[in-house]
Amino acid sequence: MKLNVSPAIVLHHTNYGEADRIVTLLTPDNGRIKGFARNARKSRKRFGAALETFAEVQLHWTQRPGSGLVTFQEAELVSLRAGLRTDLDTLALAGYGCELTGVLFDETVGAAETFSLLKAFLDHLDVNGASDEARLLLELRLLSLSGYVPHLQHCAACDADLPAGPVGFSAARNGSLCEACGGGRMTLQVDRMTLGTLGRILQTPLNHFEGFRLSPLTRREGLALMAETLRHHLPSPLKSQSFMTALDSADES
Ligand SMILES: [Zn+2]
Repeated sequence: MKLNVSPAIVLHHTNYGEADRIVTLLTPDNGRIKGFARNARKSRKRFGAALETFAEVQLHWTQRPGSGLVTFQEAELVSLRAGLRTDLDTLALAGYGCELTGVLFDETVGAAETFSLLKAFLDHLDVNGASDEARLLLELRLLSLSGYVPHLQHCAACDADLPAGPVGFSAARNGSLCEACGGGRMTLQVDRMTLGTLGRILQTPLNHFEGFRLSPLTRREGLALMAETLRHHLPSPLKSQSFMTALDSADES
């Protein structure tokens, strides 16, 4: 069996039996892979702390032809990103980023860009902690990479220019809507300036997270627009999402 070697980021793991662990990782060339790490919890020599969530590793694995699960041989730790574990909001957002990436990307198409995006996102959180900006940048870029980014700057139905001020948005109708196409009847209304900012963010390099300062209105409207779009495309709500919501309401009370 061929031995594969690649950089990888741990998205998720569950313990299995006495000593094994099932781990899902993202790689730049093979996309998302899932497999068995035998004795992961006993053999510190082969895996050490390398198979913890958010860790970046140099992964060695083999795969039987026709088998969905791979077998991990070894993992050398490149970065544990310990800073992600020092704050609950940061831990929750990092977990959400990994789950969202795993759900949106189960193929090798776009895997290199997705890997680069997730790596930059986790490195940013590791140093700077959680922020609305980091969440918004990740969501918008993941939607763009997976081909789900909605029409922002023009009407999604007729391509007309959008007026200044509030613009109706519908994920089901794939984006912003002008008055004539029913924009005024949409529950979600977003200022045209917010749409412009989201459009400009999409022009920035995928792995840039530093230096974005968004107004409270842009953050609130941008996150609402992302939430509506993701709800429309995701098969079911993410587990990490309810954890983040619980943290938010605990902060507010
Ligand atoms: Zn229109």
